[in-house]
Formats: sequence, structure tokens, C-alpha cells
Amino acid sequence: MLWLAFGPFHTMENQVLVIRIKIPNRGAVDWTVNSGPQLLFRDVLDVIGQVLPEATTTAFEYEDEDGDRITVRSDEEMKAMLSYYYSTVMEQQVNGQLIEPLQIFPRACKPPGERNIHGLKVNTRAGPSQHSSPAVSDALPSNSLKKSSAELKKILANGQMNEQDIRYRDTLGHGNGGTVYKAYHVPSGKTLAVKVILLDITLELQKQIMSELEILYKCDSSYIIGFYGAFFVENRISICTEFMDGGSLDVYRKIPEHVLGRIAVAVVKGLTYLWSLKILHRDVKPSNMLVNTRGQVKLCDFGVSTQLVNSIAKTYVGTNAYMAPERISGEQYGIHSDVWSLGISFMELALGRFPYPQIQKNQGSLMPLQLLQCIVDEHAKTAKRKAGT
Ligand code: ATP
Ligand code: MG
Repeated sequence: MLWLAFGPFHTMENQVLVIRIKIPNRGAVDWTVNSGPQLLFRDVLDVIGQVLPEATTTAFEYEDEDGDRITVRSDEEMKAMLSYYYSTVMEQQVNGQLIEPLQIFPRACKPPGERNIHGLKVNTRAGPSQHSSPAVSDALPSNSLKKSSAELKKILANGQMNEQDIRYRDTLGHGNGGTVYKAYHVPSGKTLAVKVILLDITLELQKQIMSELEILYKCDSSYIIGFYGAFFVENRISICTEFMDGGSLDVYRKIPEHVLGRIAVAVVKGLTYLWSLKILHRDVKPSNMLVNTRGQVKLCDFGVSTQLVNSIAKTYVGTNAYMAPERISGEQYGIHSDVWSLGISFMELALGRFPYPQIQKNQGSLMPLQLLQCIVDEHAKTAKRKAGT
């Protein structure tokens, strides 16, 4: 469809905005909006619904200057998209270029039972299949505590994974919160990494964790570890993910700059993807950056389930040397805290040693409080120096 007119861009308030809705294999539809800056996310979904009545669209994407797709699923993200778009418009105006419409790419919600991102079928409805386990959100009636133990077992399984189908092989490593095993999934013939964490928590909390882990099925990025499913057996949760045959970056010591540069791009893309889903990683460090012999770099162990993060923190002491000062001091933290941990991790990988010489990291990831204090103090000194006080 032809895009014809674009109004004058004098101020943000009186802008006429043209949104080009891209339809897979069918071109595009242009939509002229008179009050661009006031536009709400819901308005855009309504129009997409008219353009694509056959699909249930829950979000859409736009492309940034590097061509990376950014997802929009809230008013806040809409605002970010519009302010990014208006800045490109200003640039086009200054350069005397033709003003391009705002291109968006609707994202259709796949029907239940078809979410299949890693070659494994994921059933989201209770079914007669021997291996199927219903997702929690579909299967939890209010009186679920009265269910039989067999039914509960099903509820507490997420995806198609269950203990009987898994053959544990080697131990890949022990972390602060659990042990990771290399394992074989008999029905699919896949090699998995299974992280087993002992958690003495209530059944309600177990259910909450399983439901929070649901979002992992929707994570679809080549920079994020693939998720196959999770299940509780007694007091332990097993989280099944893609096996990375190169292991984690903590064992590689000093990494040459040209390799580290490539790794950094992948890690930042993985983090940007998580942040676009409103997920903070919360545990960025070399041992949570995995590599494989296909040259891929993927992030793992991110804090997708608040309840899981809290439960692990309650069971195990949850401080590590990569944490940002504001986290160590117990203040609010956000994306910038992930960025701090990213910086410390890359300094370590580039130098071949931990950047704070006062801190001996070799006793595992638990840090004595006095040592952590030096991170906070050092940060405060730098901030003061910058402020010239
Ligand atoms: P923490 O518990 O604080 O996250 P950690 O990352 O060192 O510390 P784990 O997450 O338990 O500990 O992981 C232990 C080790 O298992 C890692 O260092 C890594 O080498 C290995 N590992 C984890 N996940 C995978 C995977 N998907 N594929 C291959 N190896 C893995
Ligand atoms: Mg880890």
C-alpha cells in the first residue's frame, strides 16, 4: 500500500504520525494518527486487530537503528518507541530527508499447545497424553490443594519434562544454589543441562515458581539459553535447559580482546532482550555466560521467577562479588545493576583476574561482608572524585 502524506513536524503535540503495519507475506497497511504522542498501546492493538482479524496480537515490534527488533507490550514501551521514532524524524528533517513512517511488526500469540521453541512440544492444556503436563495457569483451580497427589505432580511440572524420562550423566558443576548435571532426555533423545536446587518451601510457593517460569517458554532469543521445562519432586526443583558443550566463561581465564568483543555483543544482546521483557538478569557473571562449539554465547540463570530468586536467597546466602554497590547496600536496583555486573565480568575476562585485587574470589561466590564493603566504598570514592568533592 502506498504511503502518501506526512504532516509537518513542528512540535510533538501537533504531529501527524503514520504507522506502517507490516503484515508477513502481505505487504503493509499505513495508518495515519493525528495525535501521535497521546497514542496508547491498546489503540495500536485495536487497529492491528482490524488489519489482522484472524490473529490474536498481543504485542508488536519495531526496529532500532541497528535493525534489532524491540518488543512493545505496554504504554511505557510505546512511549519509548515514540520518543525513539521522533528522534529519528528530527534527524531526517535536519538532513532534509523524506520522513519515513514508523514501521511496526505485529506479533501474533501462538495458540496453546503450539508453543514450541526448542523442538519439544509443550502442552498447555491438560490432556490424555502420557507425557503431557498442563501448564499451571490452565490447571490451577481454586481448590487445587485438595487434588490427588498424581494431579498435583502434574501441576508442579512445567512443560514435558519429568524425572522418569531423564537419565543423569555427569556433574557439570556446583553453584551457590544447586548442582548442574548433564543429562539425557529419553523421549526426545536430547542432551540437557539439568539444574537441581533443594528448596524447602511450601506447595503454594512451588506452584507460584512454576507459574513464573512459564515466561521462559516465550523467551526466544539466540542469546538466551533454551528452556525445556521444570518440575518439582519433593523438595527439589529441576530446571531443564539446553546443554552448552563449551561450558561457562569462568573457566577460560584471560580472553583475547577480539574474541571478548564478539562475546560482549552477544551478552549485551541477551541482556537487552531480557530487559525488553522487563526481566532483570540479577546474576550476571562469567559462570552464567555459556558457550558452545557452534560459536554461540548464551546467558543462563536469570531471575525470571521472583519467588525462585527469593527462595534461593532465603536458603543460601545470596551475595556475590559481581553485585552492584546499590544491591550490596540493600537499596533499590534496576538495569544499571546488571550493567555493573556486566562491567565487572568483562574486566575479569579481559584481565584474566578479578578486577578488585582485595577480593579473593576463589572461595566460591560467597563473599565476606568486609570485602563487599570495599566495592561499596570504592564506588563512593569514584563518585565523589567525579563530582569534584
Ligand atoms: P550460581 O549458583 O551462583 O549461579 P554458578 O553459575 O557457578 O553459581 P551453577 O549455575 O550451579 O553455578 O552452574 C554450575 C556450573 O555448571 C557452571 O559453572 C557451568 O560451568 C555449568 N553449567 C550450567 N549450566 C550449563 C549448561 N546449560 N550447559 C553446560 N554447562 C552448564
Ligand atoms: Mg549459574
